[in-house]
Amino acid sequence: THFGFRDVPVGDKQRLVGEVFTSVAGNYDLMNDLMSMGIHRLWKRHFALVSGVRRGDRVLDLAGGTGDIAALLLPLVGKDGEIVVGDINAAMLEVGRDRLTDRGLVDGLCWARMNAEMLPFPDTSFDAVTMVFGLRNVTNKAAALADIYRVLKPGGRALIMEFSKVKSPLLSKLYDFHSFKVLPRLGQLFAGDADSYQYLAESIRKHPDQEGMRELMNEAGFDRVDVRNLSHGIVAIHRGYKF
Ligand code: SAM
Repeated sequence: THFGFRDVPVGDKQRLVGEVFTSVAGNYDLMNDLMSMGIHRLWKRHFALVSGVRRGDRVLDLAGGTGDIAALLLPLVGKDGEIVVGDINAAMLEVGRDRLTDRGLVDGLCWARMNAEMLPFPDTSFDAVTMVFGLRNVTNKAAALADIYRVLKPGGRALIMEFSKVKSPLLSKLYDFHSFKVLPRLGQLFAGDADSYQYLAESIRKHPDQEGMRELMNEAGFDRVDVRNLSHGIVAIHRGYKF
């Protein structure tokens, strides 16, 4: 397919990723539901529960275009807190902002287009930075993690949820079948777009596993990095602190 990212220069990859998300923005919920059979909603709720986000916190939700995470964290930060939703793709931001506005979620939210690799904020700006199903699309993950570290306040934490390595052999087989055989067909059938779904399955396989992510976070400077597997490692939440 034309999404053979390994063969194109870095700048082009970022542009192609942008195009993938523009083409799926409108079908985004459908896509998530197909990919995870609806379970992404539970993963996200779990993520918010263990995020440790508190009243008054200033949070940056990176790759947050759909607004799903912002909607879950907003009640936690309360009236004195703030959530900045950052995403590289304008269409995703628009979909998320419209959806949350329709639900009456406006105050305390701020939407801005940005690249996770070059955050437009001064040092020590946030109590927490969250990134859910976003990091695997970022070309230079080390740069993104280093910049997340930079914008955190001392005592602040990063919470990264991403697809990871399935820990059970049987589930792993089923999962591969679902990703490479079922998913692109469902994508074709429901969204007329097999390529984007194929890209997503491939990007999940190429993303570092639990240990690889832990190392990347340590290298970026994070302390006390821990990992929590959800659904036997289909998804993992990495948490790290800046002290
Ligand atoms: N966090 C949301 C959720 O879980 O519903 C959206 C996840 S979606 C799979 C990935 C998002 O990452 C897209 O909105 C895409 O535009 C964004 N993205 C990709 N590369 C990015 C980058 N370098 N910087 C910021 N956002 C990026």
